[in-house]
Amino acid sequence: MDSIKEENIRQLKQLIADSCKIVVAGHTHPDGDALGATAAMALYLQDYAGKDVCCVFSDSPAANLGFILPESVRYHFHDTAPEDTISAINKADLIFLLDCNHFSRTEALEAHLAASKARKVLIDHHLNPDTESFDLVFSTPEISSASELLYWVMRVMGDSSASLGMTIEVGTALLTGMTTDTNNFANSVFPSTFRMASELIASGVDRDALLQKIYNSYRENRVRAMGYMQSEGLTILPEGAAYMVLTKEIQERFDIQDGETEGLVNVPLTIGKVRLSVLAKEDGDHFRISVRSKKGTSAQQLAQRFFHGGGHENASGGKVLIGADVPAPEAVPAYIETILKNFMG
Ligand code: 5GP
Ligand code: MN
Repeated sequence: MDSIKEENIRQLKQLIADSCKIVVAGHTHPDGDALGATAAMALYLQDYAGKDVCCVFSDSPAANLGFILPESVRYHFHDTAPEDTISAINKADLIFLLDCNHFSRTEALEAHLAASKARKVLIDHHLNPDTESFDLVFSTPEISSASELLYWVMRVMGDSSASLGMTIEVGTALLTGMTTDTNNFANSVFPSTFRMASELIASGVDRDALLQKIYNSYRENRVRAMGYMQSEGLTILPEGAAYMVLTKEIQERFDIQDGETEGLVNVPLTIGKVRLSVLAKEDGDHFRISVRSKKGTSAQQLAQRFFHGGGHENASGGKVLIGADVPAPEAVPAYIETILKNFMG
């Protein structure tokens, strides 16, 4: 992995050696990559380096991703235990931020993380990292996932020994994160990604077991909701864009829980003429936006210019704010349609 500099690895080893209490943070609404990378980092730091570690997030993970959290790792979620989260951040002498490019992506934790006097390390694969806020930055956009980047950082830290600190548990967390972020090797896959997977499977990580947990453990209602959205809730514009709006009413009707619509936004892209797909999901005072695109159309540009967000070239996210962007939830479909026509036109 050429983008990982020896000098940075030397500095990372020193920062870890000089610290006692370490906090590992990831982005709001943690996905498989954020959970997998932080779990692997925490396991490595506590089991291999012998540090006092905990992971912090602004909100609890979706139930279907709960299997990624190792029992031996301490987690604090700000939505359920704000005092514990803030206390852990305030006591830390080293902070890792994984799978996001800026402390603002941790939402409720941003002010506490940014104000901390701890040394700070960023390990991420998004564009435009906030390098100013960190003592050390590992940022590689040309990679599948934060989990893959962390895998190569750990491999280089282990010098010639591939197994140093890379237990089956660490490897399983990293392979899970990479698998979810690439949608099981469909997007953002590089030669290094296959090498990582090959090495981990050869070392004993059970890929079949993790595929069962990621893709074949959903509840029935999720499949029914996906079917409903594809037949009744999908609008395809002649410009080559598609959108779906998952209102609170539909979520309640199908008893949709957080994480259960994962993958839905990809479905319209299976239609030949669709180059851009948007899913809007009502969430309190805003709609969460997921954007996916085919090569040659930029999901990232759309999310950044119109939805207060960002992400990767072909997979991004953002928000539509009720009040600021639209007067009421009912106005969201027309709002998105106008944006898509303008963007594609
Ligand atoms: P998803 O659609 O799966 O929620 O997110 C896809 C990608 O967009 C992820 O890489 C995620 O980090 C990024 N993303 C999602 N929401 C936001 C957002 O509000 N702001 C930014 N900057 N990136 C986002
Ligand atoms: Mn990621």
